[in-house]
Amino acid sequence: MAFPHWSEEHESFRASVRRFVADEIRPFAEKWQAEEGFPDDLFCKAGALGLLGVRFDPKWGGSGLDYWYTVILVEELVRGRDIGCVVGLLVQCEMATAVIHDHGSDALRREWLAPAIAGERIAALGVSEPGGGSDVAALRTTARADGDDYVIRGSKIFISNGARADFVTLAVRTGGPGPDGVSLVVCPTDAKGFQVSRRLRKVDLHSSDTAELFFDDVRVPRRFLIGEEGRGFRYIMRAFQGERLVLAVMMNALCDDVLQETLAYMAERRAFGQPLAAMQAWRHRMADWMTRLEASRALTYRAAEQLADRDPRGDETVSMAKLYGAEIIRGLVLDCAHALGGYGFMEENYVARCSRGVQNWGIGAGTSEVMREIIAKRRMPVGAA
Ligand SMILES: Cc1cc2nc3c(=O)[nH]c(=O)nc-3n(C[C@H](O)[C@H](O)[C@H](O)COP(=O)(O)OP(=O)(O)OC[C@H]3O[C@@H](n4cnc5c(N)ncnc54)[C@H](O)[C@@H]3O)c2cc1C
Repeated sequence: MAFPHWSEEHESFRASVRRFVADEIRPFAEKWQAEEGFPDDLFCKAGALGLLGVRFDPKWGGSGLDYWYTVILVEELVRGRDIGCVVGLLVQCEMATAVIHDHGSDALRREWLAPAIAGERIAALGVSEPGGGSDVAALRTTARADGDDYVIRGSKIFISNGARADFVTLAVRTGGPGPDGVSLVVCPTDAKGFQVSRRLRKVDLHSSDTAELFFDDVRVPRRFLIGEEGRGFRYIMRAFQGERLVLAVMMNALCDDVLQETLAYMAERRAFGQPLAAMQAWRHRMADWMTRLEASRALTYRAAEQLADRDPRGDETVSMAKLYGAEIIRGLVLDCAHALGGYGFMEENYVARCSRGVQNWGIGAGTSEVMREIIAKRRMPVGAA
């Protein structure tokens, strides 16, 4: 039975994303991974279909839909079998632009958000720094006010879309130490002093570009400040909820794809006179993964429901969903690769390729330890009677 929230409108949205993925991503997935990049015009194609602003206000080109459409978008994008490409697209619409949509001035929304929703400008989110990513409140890149400008100095690392972006939604220190000194500004990448120090080579997700960025006294107008000065940390933490939901959905969808591929193989592959799928040791192991995957999906949908309803518990539920997804994806994908025998170690095999990057899921948008901290903080207040 379909999940109760899927209406006819949801299904028709799903069908249109599925067609986009089948036509524009899946046929090129292996080529893009081998070439370590996908073309910029994919952003325009996705933008033209309204996929880069699903929840955003129609005034800026968005579709004004809710989190359930985001869930469907992500589930279908994963079918393209190029997770690096999915990361590139989702950084644009979920990670780098949501804060401009939610907190930016209309002028900023017109200049940067609307073209990003249309796919005409590519966006990156710059939070993590060489000195640390988990402790966002300790970031060190500074933006010093000077007349009508900020002068930005510092560096960022592991920035998705960083080498190709037209602008970076940048976390900077405009005040003293701690979270209240953090602000967000839009930094155009053609500004003098902006440098892509290096494009980083990863062990997986090859088609997403990931860069280290350097800001050498980069001047940006003060009107590029997003929202209020000193509130950047809060804006980032709120936006993380959407990012974490997207990652949880991605993990579930990837697990499902890998599991289905493996089960089909196990039904055909024979050893000692019987299909692998008939062997109890494997049947039980796979039954365990199916159970955990169902649990993970239910938790993720619960988080989507709470975020859609603006339920304050959404924050902890989405952290649980991301934590749990990252816990199961590692074991599930490695077990599936193992079930494929030698094929599970071959570059040509999708499951094998997925097994290479499993540890990454517990890192981006807050590590598993950070997720545990959030959950524990909410549920185990220290000093409570
Ligand atoms: C593929 C990829 C894409 C990324 N894209 C972006 C992007 O677009 N923009 C961006 O800003 N960043 C991006 N990141 C960076 C990512 O958000 C950081 O890597 C992540 O937040 C962790 O920061 P760190 O690497 O500095 O690890 P650290 O913060 O140095 O942590 C190292 C280890 O210590 C653990 N740890 C930290 N604090 C605690 C604690 N309190 N208790 C217990 N353990 C703790 C962590 O869980 C981790 O295991 C990306 C990373 C990757 C791998």
